[in-house]
Amino acid sequence: MLDTTLKIKNYIVNFRFLRSLRFRIFAIVCLVGILPCFILSELLIGSYEKHAVDHRMSEVQHQCTVLADHLFTYDYLYDTGNDIVNTELDEVTNIYDGRIMIIDSELRVIKDTYSISQGKYMIADEVVRCLNNKESISNYDERNNYIEMITPIVDSEEGDIVGVMLTSVSTEAIAATQRVLGIRVQYFLIALVVIVLTISVIVSKMLIRPFLNVSLAMSEVREGFTADRLMLPNYLETEVLSEAFLHMVSELKKLEDSRQEFVSNVSHELKTPITSIKVLADSLNMQEEVSNETYREFMQDIALEVDKENKIINDLMTLVKLDKSAGTPLNRESVNIEEMLEEILKSVHPIADQKGIELILEVIRPVVCAVDQVKLSFAVTNIVENAIKYNIEKGWVRVSLDSEPSFFTIVIADSGIGIPEEEQTHIFERFYRVDKSHSTEIDGTGLGLAISRDAVLLHNGAIKVESEPGSGTVFTIKIPR
Ligand code: ADP
Repeated sequence: MLDTTLKIKNYIVNFRFLRSLRFRIFAIVCLVGILPCFILSELLIGSYEKHAVDHRMSEVQHQCTVLADHLFTYDYLYDTGNDIVNTELDEVTNIYDGRIMIIDSELRVIKDTYSISQGKYMIADEVVRCLNNKESISNYDERNNYIEMITPIVDSEEGDIVGVMLTSVSTEAIAATQRVLGIRVQYFLIALVVIVLTISVIVSKMLIRPFLNVSLAMSEVREGFTADRLMLPNYLETEVLSEAFLHMVSELKKLEDSRQEFVSNVSHELKTPITSIKVLADSLNMQEEVSNETYREFMQDIALEVDKENKIINDLMTLVKLDKSAGTPLNRESVNIEEMLEEILKSVHPIADQKGIELILEVIRPVVCAVDQVKLSFAVTNIVENAIKYNIEKGWVRVSLDSEPSFFTIVIADSGIGIPEEEQTHIFERFYRVDKSHSTEIDGTGLGLAISRDAVLLHNGAIKVESEPGSGTVFTIKIPR
């Protein structure tokens, strides 16, 4: 319980929830559901206000024009006692809850329905402008909730302006309706927020479920359950995810299998010479009288087995070193490849001579390139040694060098026994030896080509083999410059 509380705290304090898909779906559904309604309600209330004010203005405008006409017709500017006009003024002010002031051309208020400003002068800007330009002016004071309208009183015969009518109409009723509308919209929005929040929680939970199922199934696979549980009928995305995971699991399994195979191979290969040594030593011990020659012969065999063991250990160590250096930068230096090949051929000359094998170096285009000399010459030496080892008496080995602007190639061809096509894909595997029958005649660990391939790959290069049993083998190494 305490653990869960801590987790939730950590979740909130570090804002980790922002990265959660569930939270994002929740937020999106909320936004899509709520935001448009908020905007719409604001627009609705705003447009109601505008529409109602416009309507009221045009209504009042019409009344004012009719009134202004009557004011002139009944000479009201000279006789404010006219009952008909006064009744009309009262009616208009009552209906619209407003105030009307009649101002003559001297800017004197001759009638105020509130009787406050009567007899005073009104020198407001709009009034003067209306008198001068004969134009009606209307304003809406949103803050104080009223409409102000200034209408010219025109002599319909002469066309002269004789005064103005200043009408103020309250829009309090509109504001009140707007308030009521606003409260109703708020209730509606609160209900909507509750509904949308509930829907968001449910939808986000539902949408996220396949991902949770897949991650649960993944952790079960990790704990050792079968991988079949992963194939749940879900989204395309989770299907892709589980496929990728299954692929990774099978790759890991392959890796684990090959690691186990490697370990068992190593133990087997290391055991073979030791078993031979043990057999040789035992048979020596079991004999009562051992002649010096037999003793020496057995000891020579034991020394040979020790050499074999030593070679396997050395090769293994080289492989481990190469594996370790994968990913770390190579110890590159500028190397004249032709000179490097000459050195290699010189070093293998003695073993080639034993079989009467001719070594040929053919340089088509020389090249100087930044490579890891130790590793690359190791790779080439292994292949050249193989070309000698698996060759016929008085055969030949030809090493050629050629270069292109972006890479150079080293080709090692021999006139040897060749490699059957079905074996060619396996020869780079660790401990793999073709045709176990001749592997007893010819010494080897089955690690040489694995080492060569690793060294070439460390240079981002490629290695390939072409061979025909009985006519020879060609290894091509391609290294980018
Ligand atoms: P080994 O220590 O057995 O030589 P390698 O990894 O160097 O191990 O080679 C693997 C196998 O490939 C060898 O056992 C051999 O059968 C075969 N092979 C390699 N190079 C040649 C070659 N030039 N001609 C024929 N067979 C070859």
